[in-house]
Amino acid sequence: MTEPLVSRMRAFGTTIFAEMSALAVQTGAINLGQGFPDTDGPAAMLDRAVQAITSGANQYPPGPGVLELRQAVSEHRMAQYRLDYDPAGEVLVTVGATEAIAASVLALCEPGDEVIAFEPYYDSYAASIALAQARLAAVTLRPVNGRFTFDPDELRAAVTPRTRAILVNSPHNPTGTVFTRDELTVIAELCQEHGLIAITDEVYEHLTFDGVEHVPLATLPGMRERTVMISSAGKTFSVTGWKTGWVCAPPELVRAVSTVKQFLTFTASAPWQLAVAYGLRTELEWVAALRAGLQDKRDRLMDGLAAAGFEVLRPSGTYFVQTDIRPLGFEDGLEFTRRLPELAGVVAIPTQVFYDHPERGSHFVRFAFCKKDEVIDEAVTRLKRLSQG
Ligand SMILES: *Cc1c(COP(=O)(O)O)cnc(C)c1O
Repeated sequence: MTEPLVSRMRAFGTTIFAEMSALAVQTGAINLGQGFPDTDGPAAMLDRAVQAITSGANQYPPGPGVLELRQAVSEHRMAQYRLDYDPAGEVLVTVGATEAIAASVLALCEPGDEVIAFEPYYDSYAASIALAQARLAAVTLRPVNGRFTFDPDELRAAVTPRTRAILVNSPHNPTGTVFTRDELTVIAELCQEHGLIAITDEVYEHLTFDGVEHVPLATLPGMRERTVMISSAGKTFSVTGWKTGWVCAPPELVRAVSTVKQFLTFTASAPWQLAVAYGLRTELEWVAALRAGLQDKRDRLMDGLAAAGFEVLRPSGTYFVQTDIRPLGFEDGLEFTRRLPELAGVVAIPTQVFYDHPERGSHFVRFAFCKKDEVIDEAVTRLKRLSQG
């Protein structure tokens, strides 16, 4: 049979995560590749999910999501950011942020439209844009004084008459950059000047370090009306398997995204929605402790990686730290990470797979620190073999 997969999806065969996680299992290596925590979310929130199931929340919830969750999301936006979203019409519950991103791109982009995203980018962006038959225009983030950022002139130059939207992920996976108000202002001005829609991926909104605050793009002047703001419970509450996310936007944008979303999944699972509503209302202290704990884990892994001979770039948020492998005598991160299980018994992710211009990220390797301290310590002990020849 000829290749059954549609041509626009052929570049998206198996993800690097599948390859590297399989390698971890095969070799018994410690997996600091995929970004999921190895501890559970708040116990009372888990109980709330069980209770939701045993008390009958098991049939289709309303298409826009369970009202209780839409209300909790709305209250949370107001308390955190002074952003006012009406639970009736301006909040849509989705199957994780992933579905929210896909539905937004499919709803808002015509074939041939261009979507700007910063590379390295989260892998679902390119696939969603390809599904919409739109085109991704990648603007490269590069380290400046140890922090990944963009050149405003390069961003401006990426806008063409076909540009429809800009996808903004802050805190940014995989670089750990949290965009500053100045950086967001450059983006906001460009959106307003060219009538662009902003689609923001804010799944790490609570996971920032060193007192750095997350600023939602929608809080900048003139931006609420043109921003599709996306977040999710997975990272905030360490429940990445729950796949419960949401979109906040003005009614006409939410209506557009809902129109597509209803035919992708119709609605998201009911029990998780009730539990996440509970989490947003009662577990933000738990989240603050998670964030402090993650900062310690970041420091623990950064110190260990530096001692093992990597050049380490300090992230201000997320689960991830970027390293430069050249001080260890390696040039290519893909080759390095394929050999790392055998060299040191650890799995990591080559950052180049998140670029349209892989040569710009060839020497970067991403490690996840959302793991138990003893797992990080053992990984670091093993990685020190690299410089002991
Ligand atoms: C984890 C992650 C997502 C996916 O979130 P889900 O709610 O699990 O779909 C989206 N964007 C980024 C940047 C992520 O790291």
